[in-house]
Amino acid sequence: MSYVITELCTLDGSCVEVCPVACIHTQPDAPQYYIDPDVCIECEQCEIVCPVNAIAVDWKLPEQYLPWIEINASFFRKNKAAVGPVSLDTAFQMVRAAQDYAVEINAAVSVAVVDGAGAPIAVAAMDGANGGLQRSPSTRRTQPPASSLPLTRCALRVGAPGSAAWSSPPAAA
Ligand code: SF4
Ligand code: SF4
Repeated sequence: MSYVITELCTLDGSCVEVCPVACIHTQPDAPQYYIDPDVCIECEQCEIVCPVNAIAVDWKLPEQYLPWIEINASFFRKNKAAVGPVSLDTAFQMVRAAQDYAVEINAAVSVAVVDGAGAPIAVAAMDGANGGLQRSPSTRRTQPPASSLPLTRCALRVGAPGSAAWSSPPAAA
């Protein structure tokens, strides 16, 4: 499951600003922004801020926009650069981004950053989430009692085996 951007996109970039895992990208000559289905954690923030209703979760897309599931995915197959292995630091930055967002929405998440072959690079579980490693004290933030937190799992998949996802979005056209 992933959120998908359709041809209604006007390239204003609002969704890029709110995406907690930086998985919305485009290229200078592209007609719209695209969501990486391997990285999207389905947090809904992009859909909320889109001024033209260009975004929906894949299973809610109107029939005429179903081809954009593949259009979004293929954009990343073509354009995701193999820029070398993801460092442990980068992987934990991605974990912390997901955790920080979870704290904002009063949730607890287990996060795994894996390479394109599914091998884990970094895994972590917040207090109140199931399994995994505990978040380190240096990255812990004040949280509500675990019993009040909805449990959510998410995985961030990064590129081809041994390659990294983009760390920042390319500029819009
Ligand atoms: S649903 Fe959340 S994670 Fe997925 S693209 Fe939108 S803002 Fe990013
Ligand atoms: S918020 Fe909507 S219109 Fe703006 S860039 Fe994102 S998908 Fe396109």
